[in-house]
Amino acid sequence: MEKKKVADCIALLEKEYGIPRPDEEDPVDLLVKTILSQNTSDANSLPAFARLKRAFPDYESLLRAPDEAVAESIRRGGLAEIKAKRIKAALKKIKEEQGEISLASLAGMKKEQAMEYLLRLPGVGPKTASIVLLFAFGMPFLPVDTHVFRLSQRLGLVEEKANPEKAQKMLERIVPPDKYISFHLNLIRHGREVCHARGPRHEKCCLQGCCHYMQGQKA
Ligand code: SF4
Repeated sequence: MEKKKVADCIALLEKEYGIPRPDEEDPVDLLVKTILSQNTSDANSLPAFARLKRAFPDYESLLRAPDEAVAESIRRGGLAEIKAKRIKAALKKIKEEQGEISLASLAGMKKEQAMEYLLRLPGVGPKTASIVLLFAFGMPFLPVDTHVFRLSQRLGLVEEKANPEKAQKMLERIVPPDKYISFHLNLIRHGREVCHARGPRHEKCCLQGCCHYMQGQKA
C-alpha cells in the first residue's frame, strides 16, 4: 500500500519535473558543499562554495590557512566561523586517517561502514553523510532534509511523530533504491516551488490525489 502510494508520488513528480540527472561530483567537494548548506539556502551556500574554491583551489592550502581566512571566504553562507572550523576539522581528520584529503577509499567499503566513517567526521550528521554516499558513491541512502521531511509527513508517507532519522529509515523501506535520487531532488523542488512550509499552494499541486494532508482537509 505504502509502496504503491510512494510509486504514484514519484511518477507524478517525474511527470511534473522530469527525472533529475545530477552531475558527478568529487566526494570531498560534495562533503564541503553540504556542510556549507547546513542551516541555509542554496542561494547562500553555493556562492559561498564557489568563493571558497577560488580562495583555496586545493584543500591542502585551505588546511594551512588561518580559520579567519576560511571564514571570510564563506561569509555569505552564514555561520561562517562555525562552518570554517567544521570544514577544516573534517578535512584534517580525513588527511590524518587517509594520508591525503580524499574519500576515494569509501568506494570499497560496505555502505554501513562508509556511513560510520563519515559520521565520525566533525560536523557530519546523517543527512550530510547520506548526501555524500548517495550522490558521490551511488550507495542506497535517502537523505531527509527539511523539505523531504515536511512533504513526506504531509503526504502521509511517514508518521507525524517520526524524527528525520526515523523518517529516513521508513522512506528507505518503501522507495525503490533506484528512485532515491529522483524522489529526493524532486521532493525538494516541490517543497521550494509548491508545498511551502507556510502556505502550501494546493491548487498548483500535482500530488493532490495522493496527499494525506489534503484528504484531512476535505474530511
Ligand atoms: S496537496 Fe498541498 S499539502 Fe499536499 S503535497 Fe500538494 S501542496 Fe503539499
